[in-house]
Amino acid sequence: MNVHASATNYVFSPLPIPTLPIVGTSDLFPVHRIYCVGRNFAEHAIEMGHDPDREPPFFFQKNPDTLVLSGEEFPYPAQSSDVHHEIELVVALSKGGIDIAVKDALDHVYGYAVGLDMTRRDLQGVAKKLGRPWETGKAFEASAPCSAIVPVSKIGHPSAGALWVKVNGEIRQTGDLNQMIWKVAEMISYLSGLFTLQPGDLIYAGTPAGVGAVVRGDLINGEIEGVGEISTLVV
Ligand code: MN
Repeated sequence: MNVHASATNYVFSPLPIPTLPIVGTSDLFPVHRIYCVGRNFAEHAIEMGHDPDREPPFFFQKNPDTLVLSGEEFPYPAQSSDVHHEIELVVALSKGGIDIAVKDALDHVYGYAVGLDMTRRDLQGVAKKLGRPWETGKAFEASAPCSAIVPVSKIGHPSAGALWVKVNGEIRQTGDLNQMIWKVAEMISYLSGLFTLQPGDLIYAGTPAGVGAVVRGDLINGEIEGVGEISTLVV
C-alpha cells in the first residue's frame, strides 16, 4: 500500500484529474503538476524592479485544478483590486525524470500551449515584501487559463516567435520567444534537479514585458506565433 495505490473504497468520489485538449485529436492530456518560472524575460524583470542579469531561474507552482480552458470565462478573484495578465509559453511533458541533461531535455516534451499566468499583483507584492510564499498571489481559482496543446510532431520546438496580449483589442504585452533568458531545455534540466518531473507536468515559461491590470468585462486575447491563441472574458 502506498499513497498512489488505486482504490475503490474512497470515502467520497475523487475529483476527476484536470485535462487539456490536444489540437487535431480527441485524445486528452492529463495534467500532473504546474510549474511556473519567474522573470524569464529581461524587460519584464526590469519592469518588476529587478536586475535582468542571468541569475538562476526560480519557480513556483500552481495547482492543476486552477486550469481553465481558453474560451472559458475568467472569474475575477476575491481579495484583489490589481489582477494582471501574463502570457506564457506552456511546455507539456510526456516523460519525467530527475537530473535530466540539457541535451536530452527536449525529448521529454509532448507539446506546447499558450497560457496566462493570472496574478493577484497586490497580494503577490505583500508576500514579496514580507518574505512570504506567493500562493495567494499566484495559485488562486482559475489562475491558469490555457489553450489546447499542439504536439511537437506538428510544430517541433519553437525557439522564436512573437507573443502578444491584447485587452479589448488594445495591445498590452509584446515579446518574442527568442528573448527568453532560460531556454526550454535549460528549464527542464534545472527543474529536474529540484523535483521529480512526471508525465503530465506543465511548465509556464515566463512572461514578456507589458503586464497590466484587467477588470470585469475585459476580453483578454493572446497569441504565440506558431503555437496558438488564447482568449478569456473577465467576469
Ligand atoms: Mn508568470
